Order: sequence, then structure tokens, then C-alpha cells
Amino acid sequence: MTKKIAVIPGDGIGIEVVAAGLSVLQKIGKKFGHTFEYTKALAGGIALDTAGIPLPGETLAKCRESDAVLLGAVGGPKWDMNPQHLRPEQALLGLRKELGLYSNIRPAKIYSALVGASTLKKDVVDGVDLIVVRELTGGLYFGTPRGIEERDGEKVGFNTMIYSESEIRRIARSAFEIARARRKKVCSVDKANILETSQLWRAVVTGIAKDFPEVELSHMYVDNCAMQLIRNPKQFDVIVTENMFGDILSDAAAMLTGSIGMLASASVGGTVAMYEPVHGSAPDIAGQNKANPIATIASVAMMLRFSFSLGKEADAIETAIEDVLRAGLRTGDIFTEGTTLVGTREMADHICQRI
Ligand code: NAD
Repeated sequence: MTKKIAVIPGDGIGIEVVAAGLSVLQKIGKKFGHTFEYTKALAGGIALDTAGIPLPGETLAKCRESDAVLLGAVGGPKWDMNPQHLRPEQALLGLRKELGLYSNIRPAKIYSALVGASTLKKDVVDGVDLIVVRELTGGLYFGTPRGIEERDGEKVGFNTMIYSESEIRRIARSAFEIARARRKKVCSVDKANILETSQLWRAVVTGIAKDFPEVELSHMYVDNCAMQLIRNPKQFDVIVTENMFGDILSDAAAMLTGSIGMLASASVGGTVAMYEPVHGSAPDIAGQNKANPIATIASVAMMLRFSFSLGKEADAIETAIEDVLRAGLRTGDIFTEGTTLVGTREMADHICQRI
């Protein structure tokens, strides 16, 4: 099989973890007889420095011409004071919008060797295996009108939370389809006691559930869900929620696993899907060979499984990750006494050796 991949390392540790991800992909290609062709593309701070904008048209064109996109992370203190439209993070919003990536899939699964790395008690996190399906192109992050303006002698900031039935329908479908292949439970998270958008969300999700009689649907308010994720995360199989709630809850879910450096994600919906670690560019450890590459390597596994239907190859990566963890190899973020500290490159090499 030959596949074209647009590779966007971005900024900070994005560059290091993407290099690690590509080394694993190369090993998979060699072992299973596939050719992966890469086209490097710029986005984020590096694109601002090079082309003056966070998401050059050339990058979008390269993504559209590829079979999948692998992204590292964007952002950093250098560009923090930039005006809104010239911030690196605009590249992410642009990629999601332009590629039609309305569904963000974030698995949070505890590796048994890492149960001790979570800040929560072992019996709370042991066995957690959930997926947050976050709506990615609507809601508060995209709604208009938005802005900061002068009213009655003082500045006011405002944003609009807006969802159409069709936007809710397609993300709900995405969640039910995922749940159907798992433990068959969807928990839809909203704030229907306060927000009209949530009342519509709840009604539409309930309607879609009728097409999936084998899947059990429950509803939960977002504040309760934040609490339940910490109190009893094992109750969840698939959580589906709107953009901002999902942004926050998926980071909380991430910490169940011990480190944000472990978590992969897929953004799907359009013709080309995008795969990226959940974490950001981590300027505090960038360029020091300290970043955990597992989130990106696991994102590569998701790419093989979802975009290329290469399940065997994805399994090989996931098993290799479990093997290195069982062998006690750890980057700094998941290091505990009695384990062996390794750098980004060494962790990737060990995973490659076990494939
Ligand atoms: P972050 O995820 O970059 O870092 C948070 C903390 O987690 C830091 O202490 C960091 O060292 C640690 N960390 C993150 N990834 C790690 C890894 N792979 N291995 C080990 N430790 C890791 O979040 P932040 O500090 O809030 O943001 C830093 C920059 O990244 C900002 O400019 C932000 O806008 C951007 N950001 C980008 C994305 C993205 O590109 N998808 C996502 C979130 C934040």
C-alpha cells in the first residue's frame, strides 16, 4: 500500500514528537511492506515567522492532496502577544474548519503498567477505557457575533454559542457508531438546565438514538460530568459533547491516564482526517529530548486503523507501546521510582525495536 501523508510538525515539542512518530511509521512500512510518502507543511508559529500567517494556503493544499494529516503542536511564548488572527492556534481552527473535521475522537485508556502514574487512586483509574467525542467546528469557538466593543462607557466581550440540528445530528451519529463497536454506551453531556443550545442538543441526540437501539443513551450535565470523571471514570464508554465542554472534559480525561503526553486524537469528518497528540507545544521542555512521544506514536496507530484500514499494523504499534511500558521505560512525565528514564528519541527507538 502507498499512502501520502501531510506532516505538520509545528512548534516546540511538535517537531520532536512528529520525528518520533515518523520513525515508527517508517518501521511499520518496512515490516509490513507499505510505502508512506511524506510532504512537510508549515503551520503555527513557524508559519508566522516564515510566511507571515499561521496557516498558509500551500499547507491547506498539501493536506487536501494527502490521504491523512499528522500534526505535532503549535504555539509558544514568542507569539503569545500577537493579535488574535496572527496567533499560532488559529492554524488549528483553520485546519479543522477548512478540512471539515467536525468530530474529534480522544481515547483515554489506562495502560496497566502506568496505573501508578495517575494522580488518582489505583482502584479509581485501573481499567478506565473511555472515548471523548468532541464537536470541533461549531459552538462558542466559531459562533458569531463575537468581539470586544465599547458599550455604555466600558468594554464588553461577547461570544455566541450556536448549534444547528444538522451539526448536532452528525456528531451524535459519529459517537453512536463508535459506541456500537465498543461497550455500547453513549453519555451525552450538556447544560440543558440553563442553555437553549443544550436543550436542542439533548432533543436531537435523543432522536438519533432511535437509529441505534443496541446503544444505551444517557444524558449528564457538564458540571456533573467533570465531577464523575474524577469520581468514577469507569462508568463511561463514549462521551459526546459540544466544542468547549469537550475541550475541557477531554483534558480532565487525559489526566486520568497520568500524563497528557500519552494521549492520541483523531479529527474526522471530511475527506482527509487529521491525527495529533492532545498536548500542546510544551515550551518548558521543547528542544531538550524530554517530550513523551507516545501520544504522537499512538496517533499514528489511529491513522493506520481509521484512515488506511491497517488494523494489524495499528495493533503492532499499540502492543509495542505496552511492551516498552511493561519493560519500565519512561519519559520524565511518567517517570516513577524504580523505572528507567529515557528521552524522546530513545523511547521511539525502543518502540520501533519491539515492532
Ligand atoms: P501543553 O500541553 O503544551 O503543556 C502542558 C504541560 O504538559 C507542560 O508542563 C508540558 O511540559 C507538559 N507536556 C505536554 N506535552 C508533553 C509531552 N508530550 N511530554 C511530556 N510533557 C508534556 O499546554 P500549554 O502549556 O497550556 O500550552 C503551550 C503552548 O501550546 C501554547 O502556546 C498553547 O496555545 C499551545 N497548545 C497547542 C495545542 C495544539 O497544537 N494542539 C494544544 C494545546 C496547547
